[in-house]
Amino acid sequence: MTLHLYNTLTRRVQEFSPLAPPTVTMYVCGPTVYDDPHIGHARSAFVFEVLRRYLTFKGYAVTFVRNVTDVDDKIIEKARQELQIQDARLKTQDLKAKCAEVAERYLKSYHEAMDRLGLQRPDLEPKATEHVTPDMTDFISKLLISGVAYEAQGDVYCAVRKCEGYGRLSGRSVDELQSGARVEPGERKQDPLDFALWKAAKPGEPSWKSPWGEGRPGWHIECSTMSTKYLGDTFDLHGGGVDLVFPHHENEIAQAQAAGKPFARGWVHNGLLTVNGEKMSKSLGNYTTVDQVLERYPHPDYLKLLFLKTHYRSPLDYSDEKMNEARKNWQDFRGFFRIHDQIQTEYSPKDMESAGVVPNFMTRFQEAVDEDLNTPQALAVLFDALSLGQKGIERGGKEGFLWREHAYSSILEYGTVLGLFQQGLSEEKPEIREKIQRAIAERDKLRNAKEFKKADEIRNQLKQEGFHLMDTSHGTFWQRIE
Ligand SMILES: [Zn+2]
Repeated sequence: MTLHLYNTLTRRVQEFSPLAPPTVTMYVCGPTVYDDPHIGHARSAFVFEVLRRYLTFKGYAVTFVRNVTDVDDKIIEKARQELQIQDARLKTQDLKAKCAEVAERYLKSYHEAMDRLGLQRPDLEPKATEHVTPDMTDFISKLLISGVAYEAQGDVYCAVRKCEGYGRLSGRSVDELQSGARVEPGERKQDPLDFALWKAAKPGEPSWKSPWGEGRPGWHIECSTMSTKYLGDTFDLHGGGVDLVFPHHENEIAQAQAAGKPFARGWVHNGLLTVNGEKMSKSLGNYTTVDQVLERYPHPDYLKLLFLKTHYRSPLDYSDEKMNEARKNWQDFRGFFRIHDQIQTEYSPKDMESAGVVPNFMTRFQEAVDEDLNTPQALAVLFDALSLGQKGIERGGKEGFLWREHAYSSILEYGTVLGLFQQGLSEEKPEIREKIQRAIAERDKLRNAKEFKKADEIRNQLKQEGFHLMDTSHGTFWQRIE
């Protein structure tokens, strides 16, 4: 069974075959940090979390890079607004400091929100401001030498008509694009299609020294530079929201290829999120932050279940009705786990040999996720397992026990691959979670060293404290004994 993914570049579902297995290199466009993260950010982060988890489950070693855009028009605008509120007579120097403060504040907010959702941090999280010189300026120099870029009074632009294959990712021709393009006030483009690689500094704004004078990089050059710096000139997967296909990702490809880099082989884009049928916006009053959702629906699995029920490429509409349904689903799982844990082990593995056969959830689960991450189908497998487990409780006896055990281990194992059940099935404080994870790591070490007696002591100690450990082929899970 091999994973197949839809590639935006080829417009079809293709077999995933990384350049240098078992390594998989993946770059995803991260947040522009000027506001608290909303649930659209959470959806995108979660889609790539599931992809990363599934690749790991399949035995790949994933290197996951997600950038942070910490210099941008929106950040500068936010900083200006905050300064005007404070004091109108500020010096230009204050704007730079304010921009840095805004970016730092909202990066922290982003991290906290994703941590609360239980999403893993990327392996590398490069910040744009730390890669302007020499990385981005060197990249731009290459484009100037190759002739696709030109300088215009301190700005540098990329000449789109000189970029071979431009429009391939978004499926648009250059002539088609030409009709919608225009030159904004203050831009010095030769052609409305061209885009900025470097913007000459405006008074007070954050800026860096460059061969073209003081200025700051354009947004697109950030990602071409940082992805290839950390993952090489060619890498396996590039991801982001579908709203980034054009112009952002189209421009990333143009820049990289003009610099002689083949760039990403596969492009994965997640669908967008609406709230009660409408695009999220502050003016409509439906801008929903991750914190607001977690306040109302405290367990992160409610939101994750909602996400998993829709295919990642489809649009997703958030509503209270759907969240309540997701909460109900989660409570059904929890109810089963609670009962399961209260029933003592009645049979030995030997008894089980004659207890009959159980459905092959493993194959069905993998077939679903292999088919372009069909998580609604994969969830259906978990629900089937749940209903088998519930039937097992009612039935009792050897057969009932077998069903229940099989359901329990399947739900935990595949649920974990989908990012569910990470926080146990009850709310635990982070310090408790960390303590148990440390104990599990210590126990793994002892077991590897064949010191089974000491390893069992750790298990027993945790049991006394009220935590149950479960070993599977994909690691040890735990939950509170309720
Ligand atoms: Zn990007």
